[in-house]
Amino acid sequence: MVSHAAVKEALGVVSRYAVFERFIIDFIMKAIQVQKTGGPEVLALVDIPVPKLEPNEALVKIAAAGVNFIDVYFREGRYPAPLSFINGQEAAGTVTEVGSEVKTVKPGDRVAYSNVLGSYAEYAAVPAEKLVRIPDGISEQQAAAAMLQGMTAHYLVYSTYPLKKGETVLVHAAAGGVGLLLVQMAKNIGARVIGTAGSEEKARLAREAGADEVIIYTSQDFEAETKRFTGGKGVDVVYDGVGKSTFDKDLNVLRPRGYLVLFGGASGAVPPFGPIILSQKGSLFLTRPTLLHYTASREELEWRATDVMNMIAQTKLKLRIAHIYKLEQAQQAHRDLEGRKTTGKLLLVL
Ligand code: NDP
Repeated sequence: MVSHAAVKEALGVVSRYAVFERFIIDFIMKAIQVQKTGGPEVLALVDIPVPKLEPNEALVKIAAAGVNFIDVYFREGRYPAPLSFINGQEAAGTVTEVGSEVKTVKPGDRVAYSNVLGSYAEYAAVPAEKLVRIPDGISEQQAAAAMLQGMTAHYLVYSTYPLKKGETVLVHAAAGGVGLLLVQMAKNIGARVIGTAGSEEKARLAREAGADEVIIYTSQDFEAETKRFTGGKGVDVVYDGVGKSTFDKDLNVLRPRGYLVLFGGASGAVPPFGPIILSQKGSLFLTRPTLLHYTASREELEWRATDVMNMIAQTKLKLRIAHIYKLEQAQQAHRDLEGRKTTGKLLLVL
């Protein structure tokens, strides 16, 4: 593949043909490609052609791409994708071109999206039905930070287990990207929030987001503490994106007929188990939801995206964009995320 530098060097010879230079540069882009699955080192910075559009797609010039834990699963191969692929599935930017069938967006529109692989790049071809307009007053960085984690927190508290005022909820990794948004949304509904966090600093952030109680689960027993905070009654729902290391104790801190919403496995996948345990622990409910199924229709996608953007505009939801990396620093972003060094949102900017 011809590199950016090589193209520019070659163009030095013909630099007076400025139009020609633009023509060539426009068709080559930088991207972070996974050519084989593995650790952060497999995230390769490459120069590749800008994707060609299908009739239903729009070309988005990306301003900021969200980094999410799901990108780690794809990079590792835990979630399989045909190789080679461009990692990342959340971004915001500007439409530069549209396919022949696209009527909903036009060049110049500011848009954001999630759940389309290929956002760690300068450009992405995105099905128009996945794009939402970014309202005035919301920056591209805010939109990129809000889409995937914001809509996740939204479906978890409004749809998977519709949380009610006065209920008690346990949120794991409460200072993380999804965690900080979940805490705020649960508090806005009027629930009592118990959070867990891996350090004092993270506990402080979770409290600032509204958590009533925070357990530092790396040094405290979250089962004993949750029982203490609820007077032995247990919580109505556990929202757990940590998985392997928390799952067993989650079953012990729920009230009878409580809900365990397992939405991720940052510490690893939960091993197989017999469902009889749900009966023994109090006729519990277990679900393993994913955002894709909660934004499957255009109506549902628009409802959640609009709600989240409105909450941000009205400052009912505060984003914490804590870590901004350049595209070429994607490896570092993954190391920090997996190393539990991050809080709130990570972005790659272009
Ligand atoms: P986070 O910012 O929450 O980062 C993960 C956090 O998990 C860490 O900061 C850490 O917080 C905690 N953690 C606990 N144990 C480990 C471990 N062994 N290794 C790494 N981290 C650990 O990430 P996201 O907000 O992007 O995602 C959170 C979870 O939500 C993930 O599991 C993700 O897959 C899931 N998710 C699921 C979606 C769905 O629709 N199902 C959609 C979006 C995200 P601490 O140090 O405080 O313990």
